[in-house]
This record gives sequence, C-alpha cells and structure tokens, in this order.
Amino acid sequence: GVWYTESDFHGSQADPLPATSAKRVLLFGGTFDPPHVGHLTMAQLAYEQTGVDEVWFLPAPSPPHKADIADDTFAWRVAMVSALLRGRPHLRTMPLEARLPRPSYTIDTVKACKQWYPDVDFMFLLGADSLAHLPTWNGATELCSLIPIVVAARAGYPVAETVAAVRGALPSLQVGVIEMPLLDVSSTWLRQRLDHGQDTCELVPERVLGVWWRGSNGVAKDGGNQA
Ligand code: ATP
Repeated sequence: GVWYTESDFHGSQADPLPATSAKRVLLFGGTFDPPHVGHLTMAQLAYEQTGVDEVWFLPAPSPPHKADIADDTFAWRVAMVSALLRGRPHLRTMPLEARLPRPSYTIDTVKACKQWYPDVDFMFLLGADSLAHLPTWNGATELCSLIPIVVAARAGYPVAETVAAVRGALPSLQVGVIEMPLLDVSSTWLRQRLDHGQDTCELVPERVLGVWWRGSNGVAKDGGNQA
C-alpha cells in the first residue's frame, strides 16, 4: 500500500512546527533527486567542523532553477532524505518549505526559519557550484546580510577562486569553508543511471534506493520490477 502521502509532508500553517532544542543550526537546501553520498558527507563534515547542534535538510517543493522538478515528487524526495539520514539524529529532514509559497526562494526560507525559530542561530550550507550562482539568486545581497554561508568544494569550482569571485559581486558575503574530499557525484548523473537500470555503486545508499524504486505517490518508478 501507499506508505506515505503528500499530506504527511506538505504540512499546513496550522500544523505545529517541528520542535528543536538546538541553539545553532545549519540549513541545507536542495532538490535531493535523489539524495546521495555527496550530500551526506558534506552535511556530516559541516556538522563536525562548524559545531552546530543540528543540520536541517530542506527539500525544495519546486526549486526556482529546476523547471523539470515537479511538486508532486516532493513527498517522495522527503522520504528519500529521511532514509539517507536514518540513524543520524543530528541530521534532520525538515520539509519546512512546504509551508511557503512556490517557488520557495532561499531568502524567503531563511526569513521564515528565523521567524519560526527566533532563538536559533542559523547558517546555510552550499556546494561551491551553488555558491557560484548565488549572485543571481533573488535577494542575494539581503541574503548575505542575513545568514553566514558554509561552503563545500565541488568539482569544477575551486573554493578559493569561487569565494573570491562571489565576494566581488556580493561584498557582504560571510563565508566559512569546510574541509572535505572532492566527491564528484551529482543527482543528475545518478538519476540517469537509475533511469537506465544501471548500478549506482552505493553512491545512493541502499536504504535510499528502496524508496527510489517505490516511486512517488506509491507508484513504482520502474513498473514494479525491482525489490
Ligand atoms: P544536480 O545534479 O541536479 O545539480 P545535485 O547533486 O547538485 O543535483 P542538489 O540537491 O541540487 O544535488 O544539491 C543540493 C546542494 O548540495 C547544493 O548546494 C549543491 O551544491 C550541493 N552538492 C550536491 N552534491 C555535491 C557534491 N558531490 N559535492 C559538494 N556539494 C554538493
């Protein structure tokens, strides 16, 4: 049967916000289609190196820059993130953007989080590729004044050069860099392999693949051939 539904994750304004006792939180926005070891590694290492109490994964219902990602895969992507983070309570799945108008721009998400959790100190985690595009984001200047950025290296985007270029466009950028081995994996590449039935070699952990194959809305993505 269907073991999760859209309404489990879309959360209305009337639902209570998830509780936290965290004082410092690192927000980690993404599409997570699917979530992979790159996401897990950067979150875990950022957690260790920044000393925050929790990292909150914020799956985007409909990311502004990814027209092909439909809102109706949201619950499914949330379920995959939950599977990825299983057993690591300091890394939390927080589908908070479900409460916001679409598309949810990061500036709106950050403002909402500060309003919802006034006692929490927030930072925001980005891969260097996303940082490179930050100057084009809605409200980028204001965003930089609102929240410090924590950045992880990504193939093709050397951190020092990327930070310098972005700081040229956004002088108010506050940035910290995490030490991390370069993991040249992306959701796009993994999704293509999965769509062709190819082995993803644990880059998407088994517990996440279980959710992937069940597909969104309880419909098996592959027509039901996989376990
Ligand atoms: P896509 O292939 O569609 O671009 P993605 O693998 O980048 O997907 P997203 O969910 O879009 O996954 O990424 C969320 C965040 O994680 C972004 O800030 C991105 O820069 C970062 N990120 C994803 N994969 C890596 C990686 N392998 N190394 C460093 N940062 C990463």
